[in-house]
Amino acid sequence: MDTLPNSTKLEYSTDEKYMLRCIEIAKNGIGSTAPNPSVGAVIVHKDRIIGEGYTSAYGGSHAEVNAINSVKDKSLLSKSTLYVTAEPCSHFGKTPPCANLIVENKIPKVVIGLQDPHEKVAGKGIEILRNSGVPYSLEY
Ligand SMILES: [Zn+2]
Repeated sequence: MDTLPNSTKLEYSTDEKYMLRCIEIAKNGIGSTAPNPSVGAVIVHKDRIIGEGYTSAYGGSHAEVNAINSVKDKSLLSKSTLYVTAEPCSHFGKTPPCANLIVENKIPKVVIGLQDPHEKVAGKGIEILRNSGVPYSLEY
C-alpha cells in the first residue's frame, strides 16, 4: 500500500479558515463600495457557517449587518462567533454603527482581521466591544 508523502498542504487553524472565507466574500464587494473598503463577515455557530455578508454598494449596509441579517435563526447569534476582515465601525455614517449591532445581538465573540485605520473608527469600534464586555481578538 502506498504511503502518503509528507503533506505540503497548508493546515489552517479554525480562525484562519474562517478569516480566509471572509476575505473570499469581501472580494464580491470590490469596486462598488468606494470610498469604503470592501469588508467580508462570516458568522459561525458550532463550526458551521450560519451567515455571511459583504459590504453593499456605497451607502448600503455593511458586511456585519448583511451577515447578521442572513442568519435564519437569530437565537443562534448569542452562541456564535463573528469573523470580520476589518474592525466593526463605531460612528453613525450612512448606517448605524456595526459595533453596536454586535452588542445588541449579544454576539459573544468577535475575531477582527485588522483595526480600521479610518480616523472616525481607529479603535473606537473595538472600544465599544470592550466596554460592552464582548470578547474579541485581533490576530492578523
Ligand atoms: Zn459598519
